[in-house]
Amino acid sequence: MRVPLIVGNWKMHTTIGEARQLVNEMRLGLDKIEGVEKVICPPFVSLAVVKELIKGSSIKLGAQNLYFAEKGAYTGEVSPLMLADLCEFVIIGHSERRQYFGETDSIVNNKLRAAFKVGLKTILCVGERLEENEAGKTKEVVTGQLKSSLAGLDYPQDLVLAYEPIWAIGTGRAATGSKANETVSLIRQQFAESYGKENAREVRILYGGSVTTDNIVEFVEQSEIDGALVGGASLRTDQFVGIVKQTSEIK
Ligand code: PEP
Repeated sequence: MRVPLIVGNWKMHTTIGEARQLVNEMRLGLDKIEGVEKVICPPFVSLAVVKELIKGSSIKLGAQNLYFAEKGAYTGEVSPLMLADLCEFVIIGHSERRQYFGETDSIVNNKLRAAFKVGLKTILCVGERLEENEAGKTKEVVTGQLKSSLAGLDYPQDLVLAYEPIWAIGTGRAATGSKANETVSLIRQQFAESYGKENAREVRILYGGSVTTDNIVEFVEQSEIDGALVGGASLRTDQFVGIVKQTSEIK
């Protein structure tokens, strides 16, 4: 039984004051909804404040990135140990990290390893570029990313996967539910090859890319899709609460 999951990635949005206001707005609405796990991922600087604000609530907290070293002379970076004190989840390998900060599958692999070591639950993102999609290379790209990112890692119990076609992120051009389901199914098959069918049946796989209240149902009604990773719409209370609510009605 896979518990549906909706994750809000606030990206580089919200000052501490704005984060406080947003979480206060969302909390009541989200707490009324049962049967869906809800995670919000504010910027690093707001994690401590948000952690206090969600005490006693059903909302869980995640970070958007980490560096793989435990500590040391890595100016500006945030270590897994620092995050383990603050939050439960961390997003790893988001396409914006890959695109703007040169994150390779090998770096992603190191980050996953480091996150598991301190007990963080990870949300590993994979997804193809538009030209790869148009060239019919989606399967090759996403299964390749998955294999290399997980290379040499024992079965990662606390892993969530997110299929995020890059052309759908922040563009307003979401994939169709059926196409996303097809790719998520391939990801599950690849996971089964590495970790066995039983574990593959249990791993949660999200869809991400321009999810809103207008299209969430199309994704969560699919058999293989267990929820969504939501960017832009997670910054609006009506949208994020609506997405979680609709998910709870379907799953
Ligand atoms: C994301 O940031 O992971 C994302 C899917 O963004 P958006 O929902 O804005 O497309």
